[in-house]
Amino acid sequence: MAHRPARTLAEVLDDALRRTPLTPVDVESPATADGEVVEQVRSTLEDAAGAAVPTGRWSAGDPLRLAKGTVSWLLRCPQRALVHDDGGASDDLVAGLAVDAAAKLATLVPHRPPTAETALAYLAATGDTTAADHLADLGDRAARLVDDIAARIDLLAATWPTIEPDWWPRVEEPVRVRLGDGAVQLAGRLDLLLGGPPSARPPVVVEVKGGRWYDGMRADGHFYALLAALRDGVPPRAVVTVVADGTTQVEPVRPAVLVTAAERVAEAMQVAAAIAAGEPPAVHPGSHCVHCPLRSDCAAGRTWRADDPLAG
Ligand code: SF4
Repeated sequence: MAHRPARTLAEVLDDALRRTPLTPVDVESPATADGEVVEQVRSTLEDAAGAAVPTGRWSAGDPLRLAKGTVSWLLRCPQRALVHDDGGASDDLVAGLAVDAAAKLATLVPHRPPTAETALAYLAATGDTTAADHLADLGDRAARLVDDIAARIDLLAATWPTIEPDWWPRVEEPVRVRLGDGAVQLAGRLDLLLGGPPSARPPVVVEVKGGRWYDGMRADGHFYALLAALRDGVPPRAVVTVVADGTTQVEPVRPAVLVTAAERVAEAMQVAAAIAAGEPPAVHPGSHCVHCPLRSDCAAGRTWRADDPLAG
């Protein structure tokens, strides 16, 4: 029977085990092809850092820090990349936090079914008051948001598998990669990392999103795959993005995925170096302008319209 690609987190984990013997992952000598592609992308990035650092004048003490959002904005609209705006708490943000917390609970405490109540309690227990503060501010409208959160968590829970302890699940896993002797630092925080060193299982990165699926999430997943591969010397078997609208996006991490992710980071370094050297940041309007905090002062963004075929 033809092998059907894995479409759920449970299928990805089964598939990863079926194809990988349960021997300890040896970071010093990963399978040759895996090790080669990791060294290839590391070399691409070191070359890019070597070219960008003299222009950007970054150093280990004052590095260029690139996270997934910075890379995306440097490529999409460099001017927008210069603004650090967390947007404040919103219903969507709080729902996202709660769904993310529910996924962590379902992984770490599988005998307790994830609900809106337990997810919000988990956030409070970890000291994150964003959701509690926002719900308090909503007053009478809070119940409607909690119902919405409950519905999203039900969708997530319907497809979330029991994760065996042998996967060594790590939540909020911080990953940093130094390039150019530390003058460029790639950073991210994986929602969930399963397997990989020090476990005996192949690595799988899981991202949990509280909103609706959009294609930009794929690039975020690829960035995380790149970070994990560079740090551990072993490419993740897959990045699985589980979205609260019921979408599960499975991205097998083939060599081309890592190469493309590295090329995006290399290009972002170039753009950042030019800006650091004093060039005005380019402005690329598009549908992303709608939520941009700079829009009121940005002529290109203000005049962009969804029906403008030359924009975006
Ligand atoms: S409004 Fe649009 S074009 Fe202007 S800075 Fe923001 S994202 Fe860029």
